Amino acid sequence: MSDYVIDPPPLPSLPISGRAERFPLRRVFCVGRNYAAHVREMGNDLREPPFFFDKPADAVVESGAELPYPQATADLHHEVELVVAIGRGGSGIAAEAALSHIWGACVGVDLTRRDLQADAKAKGRPWDMAKGFDRSAPMAALVPLADAGPLDAGRIWLSVDGAMKQDADLSEMIWPVADCIAHLSSLVELAPGDLIMTGTPAGVGPLAPGAQVRAGIGNLPELDFRIAP
Ligand code: MN
Repeated sequence: MSDYVIDPPPLPSLPISGRAERFPLRRVFCVGRNYAAHVREMGNDLREPPFFFDKPADAVVESGAELPYPQATADLHHEVELVVAIGRGGSGIAAEAALSHIWGACVGVDLTRRDLQADAKAKGRPWDMAKGFDRSAPMAALVPLADAGPLDAGRIWLSVDGAMKQDADLSEMIWPVADCIAHLSSLVELAPGDLIMTGTPAGVGPLAPGAQVRAGIGNLPELDFRIAP
């Protein structure tokens, strides 16, 4: 006899590089406008600080997937981002202590229905339907922090059909990872299983049906996925 009136939903999780255990997911927070060149390419004001939005945890899909072209859009965009996974929760975390709350890191892409986002911006409406749609967060395998390499410098890149589209450095972040954790934990109490997508550099652009996407950061495992033809 079940305690629930419907089957409980599966727990979203990410694979861990080289390990059989998986990392269970709680929430996915995202940083907006965290690289100056991307703020400029979107026509936004550099005097405004970065900010947060979120995606449902079940929007995460693993590397190697083929994703159907999402419904309700004609302008699907890629945004490559460093993702950090929280292993120890807390609120009011100081930037100096932030790294001790990180379990690991991976490469992710913040897929965006740019046409819906533009419409939401124009009408002063929330971004949820532009950002938090089904399968909107492809991610590679997680790497424990000790093996992840530096999170404050290193190449971050994304190619589409073999052509380089985004190519920047983590050191260009307006809020480095530690600042993202400090700011976010001043708004919500972070918990183990939370992910933070830390914003995208310049070069965002459209993904057509059939597009083959590859993305990398430093020595982290690469992410690849395909949009169905
Ligand atoms: Mn983004």
